[in-house]
Amino acid sequence: MKWVRKNIENLSPYVAGKPIEETKRQLGLRRVIKLASNENPFGPSPKAVSAIQKVIGNINRYPDSNNYYLKQSLAKHYNLKSQNFVIGNGSDELIDIIIKTFVNEDENIITSETTFVEYQIIATINNRQVFTVPLKDFRYDLNGLRKKVNSKTKIIFIANPNNPTGTYVNKNELENFLTALPEHALVVLDEAYDTFIDVKDYPTGISYLDKPVITLKTFSKAYGLSGLRVGYCIADEKFTQYMEKTRQPFNVNMLAQVGAEAALSDKLFLKKTRTLTLEGKYYLYQQLERLGLAYVKSVTNFILVDVGRDCWEVFQELLKEGVIVRDMKQYNLNTHIRVTIGTAEENAYFIKKLEKVLLAKKG
Ligand SMILES: *Cc1c(COP(=O)(O)O)cnc(C)c1O
Repeated sequence: MKWVRKNIENLSPYVAGKPIEETKRQLGLRRVIKLASNENPFGPSPKAVSAIQKVIGNINRYPDSNNYYLKQSLAKHYNLKSQNFVIGNGSDELIDIIIKTFVNEDENIITSETTFVEYQIIATINNRQVFTVPLKDFRYDLNGLRKKVNSKTKIIFIANPNNPTGTYVNKNELENFLTALPEHALVVLDEAYDTFIDVKDYPTGISYLDKPVITLKTFSKAYGLSGLRVGYCIADEKFTQYMEKTRQPFNVNMLAQVGAEAALSDKLFLKKTRTLTLEGKYYLYQQLERLGLAYVKSVTNFILVDVGRDCWEVFQELLKEGVIVRDMKQYNLNTHIRVTIGTAEENAYFIKKLEKVLLAKKG
């Protein structure tokens, strides 16, 4: 097609988790549970909901272009300065802003082969070259990444923990990696799942503000605000000041700013989410073992499971039973599904249906 740019014509677009309403409509189901997008199954932060209700009558006005109050709250929360933050319409937008701000047309980006696909999609849309490195034992191979770095490498994206595997890069690995990098390379650490970490050697990017490191965080997962679209990055002001130039003036809507600020202070909700998610994780581990299924140990709110047969078929069969998961065909993990840890009831329902689907296949 002569009108469209070549890289858009050839682009494989992002495949989102199947929505609940669409599934009900298409399959004529009354009950559908969604364990496909790593959302918070316990709802949004109640503090966020009531804060939004208070300002909803003001939406005839533009939102605050400076995100003043949200940045103030974040600065206080992390004991940093407002200037250390850039707010985005989800961290997806910040990935775009980072690439637009820092990567010249002849420079490249490096990431893992099996990771959050938005790094590659957004880089391609922006006409930037991406090199990928295979995982090792379902984990980021930082030595492999370092070997790919050349004189034109500008950014290395590391999802830590990684989606869709649930594994993490530890402190030692990250520090060795940072030390070995050439001066022209920037590291982006995407910490979308940091709330669920239950290990001691996890390194947060915030400890490396003196290095060329940008940390991404989101309100979409543990805070329960996927539908609002708010994420932020934390970095030295020498980086954030230019990202501020690149972003759209009203990229974060009014309800998102207010909701995120309230959610940030909702310690009770966050604690409940974390505790119940960890309980759900151990329950699912135990049940998957009972079913004789291999899975990858996770530090997140989702688990990568090897169902031992074609994952697209298992996905379809589960869908008919009213359970939406994610098949991993897109990642060439042909027998794996990714399942989000749900409420206790949802987890039990998922296991019951998975068992049914797998037994039916056997017979
Ligand atoms: C879910 C997710 C995000 C969040 O994106 P938002 O745009 O903030 O909703 C970012 N990175 C990874 C690795 C994720 O899994």
